[in-house]
Amino acid sequence: MISETNGIDIFDKERIRNWFFHPFSGEQCQSCRKVFGTGEGLTPCPNCGSEDKSMRDFIKGRNALILFGKIRDFFISNEKEMVVILFCILFEVLVNNFFMSFLKAKNTPFKEIEKFLQKKITISTKVNKTFEKFVGEKFEDAIKPTKHKDFYANWNDIKDKRNNFIHGLSSGVSDDDCKLAWKLTVNSSELFAFLNNKFCVKET
Ligand SMILES: [Zn+2]
Repeated sequence: MISETNGIDIFDKERIRNWFFHPFSGEQCQSCRKVFGTGEGLTPCPNCGSEDKSMRDFIKGRNALILFGKIRDFFISNEKEMVVILFCILFEVLVNNFFMSFLKAKNTPFKEIEKFLQKKITISTKVNKTFEKFVGEKFEDAIKPTKHKDFYANWNDIKDKRNNFIHGLSSGVSDDDCKLAWKLTVNSSELFAFLNNKFCVKET
């Protein structure tokens, strides 16, 4: 398994111990919502020209950051099942955040966004049906232009492992599953930044 992301060995446990926040989060313009690579966040915003110095970390939700920190901790201590389970939850949080941003970009009233987020829709339905209904493309097709085009298939594999665990099947979570879930955790910010920039940036 490739262990490098942006030239950094993501399986180097000594190194990732120092990651207090998501290292590849990127910075988001609070005006047009476009995400730029960390450090690229310039004023004025290269996209909309906003000068309000409002670049903020893209992955800034408390829930996403808590999960990221815990997944890292469990990866370091090799608690494989926890890495797999928590990655699935993190992915669900990021999917919900994506829908929220998409609806905001379409100027959907807050009450309607809230109503949508409160609906009890399974994550599989959200990814396989709601996503396409919203953006007009299947999730797996939308991510094809990125270097994370296997993300969808990998997520499905990891979700199956989690489901086996939940249903008491003892097929087990392997070291490779754990590494894959950690790799997806690290790559998720770049992937969702891409989806954000493709579908959720406000037109200027
Ligand atoms: Zn902007």
